Amino acid sequence: MPNKNSKAGHQAIRTCVVCKKKSVQTTLMSFFLLDGGVVFDLARKCQTRKHYLCPQQECVELFPKWLKRQRTKAFLAMGAAQ
Ligand SMILES: [Zn+2]
Repeated sequence: MPNKNSKAGHQAIRTCVVCKKKSVQTTLMSFFLLDGGVVFDLARKCQTRKHYLCPQQECVELFPKWLKRQRTKAFLAMGAAQ
């Protein structure tokens, strides 16, 4: 998508799940959820759908709360599908 205001080239912008701030993908920690657990894809090798988290204390501290909400949602979604 062309953007003449962008000086950064093709840097993907992602949103932190905790603070909702947008940052360049490479400055965020990427992770995905697997079997009710969380896997950090620090090597960025996994091609699955990922979430992103700022590597700052505030977001890292609130991350477990976010994680808890995700599990609840996943559980409810499964229940609704049956
Ligand atoms: Zn954040």
